[in-house]
Amino acid sequence: MQHYTLVFMAESSSTYTSGVQQSVKFLKGVGENRARLLGKLGITTVLDLLEHFPRAYINRKLNPSLFDVQVGDRIAFTAMISWVDTRHTPKGKVILNVGVSDSKVAIVCSWFSYPKAYETLFKPGRLVWLTGTLSEFNGQFQMLHPEFELIEEDEAEENDFWKGREVLPVYPLTEGFTQKLLRRLVFNAFALYAKQIEENLPATIVEQYGFLARNVALQKMHFSQKPEELPDIKRRFAYEELFYSQILWARHKVFHGIKIKGINFVNKRELTTSLYKQLPFQLTNAQKSVLRELFADMCSDKQMSRLLQGDVGSGKTVVTLFAMLLAVENGYQAALMAPTEILADQHFVTMNTLLKGLDVNVCILKGGNYKGKAEIKADIESGKAQLVIGTHALLQKDVHFAKLGFVCVDEQHRFGVEQRARLARMALHPDLLYLSATPIPRSLAMTVYGDLEVSIINEMPPSRKPVHTVVRSSTKIDLVFAQVQKELEAGRQVYIVCPLVEESEKLSLLDATNLYEYVSTKVFPKFSCALLHGRMKAAQKDEIMLKFKAGDTKILVSTTVIEVGVDVPNASVMIVEHAERFGLAQMHQLRGRVGRGNAQSYCFLIEHQPIGKIARERLNTMTRTTDGFIIAEKDLELRGPGELFGFEQSGMPIFRFANIMRDQDVLKLARDDAFAIVNDDPDFEKPENALLKRLYHHQFSKKEELILY
Ligand code: ADP
Ligand code: MG
Repeated sequence: MQHYTLVFMAESSSTYTSGVQQSVKFLKGVGENRARLLGKLGITTVLDLLEHFPRAYINRKLNPSLFDVQVGDRIAFTAMISWVDTRHTPKGKVILNVGVSDSKVAIVCSWFSYPKAYETLFKPGRLVWLTGTLSEFNGQFQMLHPEFELIEEDEAEENDFWKGREVLPVYPLTEGFTQKLLRRLVFNAFALYAKQIEENLPATIVEQYGFLARNVALQKMHFSQKPEELPDIKRRFAYEELFYSQILWARHKVFHGIKIKGINFVNKRELTTSLYKQLPFQLTNAQKSVLRELFADMCSDKQMSRLLQGDVGSGKTVVTLFAMLLAVENGYQAALMAPTEILADQHFVTMNTLLKGLDVNVCILKGGNYKGKAEIKADIESGKAQLVIGTHALLQKDVHFAKLGFVCVDEQHRFGVEQRARLARMALHPDLLYLSATPIPRSLAMTVYGDLEVSIINEMPPSRKPVHTVVRSSTKIDLVFAQVQKELEAGRQVYIVCPLVEESEKLSLLDATNLYEYVSTKVFPKFSCALLHGRMKAAQKDEIMLKFKAGDTKILVSTTVIEVGVDVPNASVMIVEHAERFGLAQMHQLRGRVGRGNAQSYCFLIEHQPIGKIARERLNTMTRTTDGFIIAEKDLELRGPGELFGFEQSGMPIFRFANIMRDQDVLKLARDDAFAIVNDDPDFEKPENALLKRLYHHQFSKKEELILY
């Protein structure tokens, strides 16, 4: 039996020949039609096919590892079919049961609906590879609808490469393809093109990390007979991908620094010192150290591009205000852009309060037409308006700043790459600060916002008490309401959040409208109650929100439209209905609505049975910690990065090989290496960087145009 995995020559040609870059349709056995179908798997070129990695590996030998399996495990194994049985249910359905065993453990595989052909497919005595989740039925191990592949008896032709191999790849498939066909295509592709697979990492790096040559590593991914060696080999592909993405950011940073000079502010200690003296509270140490970072950037000639992360309520606004005043005391204007009018209004009020008595002209600019808007625009153009707070309206073409020196974007993830770029181009290279209350794990920040410096406020103002969080069953809701009654009687306010607006999708789902009726008439008839949902007009939502803010409304029942960042310190209770349906980041944001005042606050997460394993883990996480960064890490782990933080919006690719949670250490190495190379030789002029130059421009020149602003 052949055990080698390296099937083709290891040497690579040194030129990027067109072969691997050409369409798969030219491969033997593919053609137009199959090429189109392969496109659904993201395979268009021969190289794409070579990089189409197996998602699992079949071991054709009987698998001894079933010894310690447990119900709930996801397992993959090879076993012998011992019996096949079809059973008719009283309702006229047919169940297919297939007994398999590996001589120690017996498992029944069941299909409730299946293609007729299955009945003759399975035969006692044949080996079958199975994968699925292990369950239990009548004291028997069971797998429902497992994925399977019958191990071919070796009827294959003598010279078939796959004949007799113990370990076989299992590929992601699409219609019209079987594993057998895809294996043959992959093999044929390697047979013709293995020599043309080019190394894409600098030789020093390949050597430093002991990576296999790309050609060799790719073959191992498909032909390995030792799947346990693959995690190590995969690191190489993760590294490649992360390395090039970091080269992009490194170049962004270097060229930004060389081409674009920012404003050299001088720390005059005039307005900033006055503000410092009259603050009604002490800045936290975290706020102070972030301020030092901001001032250092602003008082240098590079253009600041910084992401300020801090949990909801950590006090980012006041930090921003200091930076804005630094710009103003240097004779520049400063702008703050918020994603909604409510937030813009709130900043306007807060800043005016903090600045009381100081000689600073603050104005606010919103969308639409309203009285006085023309004057405000005129003030912005003349320079009379020094601190300008606003919404997207600030980006409009007819808004002209006289001398804009600093721009801050609040809740920056709500704005896209393009809008960020537009702001950055709006004036003579203002210093830029982006605020984010959605904590982003470091690894994610490095890939998504790799061009930004990151500052973190990791400390809450001392008066804050962590929100007391409990999970309660929906059957115990009355006990929760009894506790809430006390809070209301003490004059506090309450949020109740539900996942849906109307009884449209699932009747079982408590909807906001019904709950509002119930709460306002049956539970708390004595307290004023309001309903807020996503189908209302913006003006109507704002009005309801403002009433709640003013304390006129005591209970706010809403869908998840409650704006991030709205500050109602008197609200001390957050009830989340159907908490099992919410994501971690969302629950954390909701919880952040309370605990903003001095009173102890509560968060009740109401769960409805049945609850899945992951939902349970999310709820447990919420009760265990209030640290947004820990929650974000957990969220990333449970959901994967693709879903988080709108990747399309961020403009970064979803990685094919790298998993930024699993590969954090690789990312760190790739980032350091990429920045070192670019700092030393930004345009890849040195001979040792010739390869980089060619490959980088080949892959990224388009991307650079979008991002290098
Ligand atoms: P966020 O970071 O969510 O934008 P804010 O800037 O809105 O938080 O601050 C939340 C609240 O905390 C505000 O009412 C603010 O005045 C207050 N605050 C900020 N810094 C401190 C501090 N060091 N000590 C006490 N209260 C503070
Ligand atoms: Mg804020």
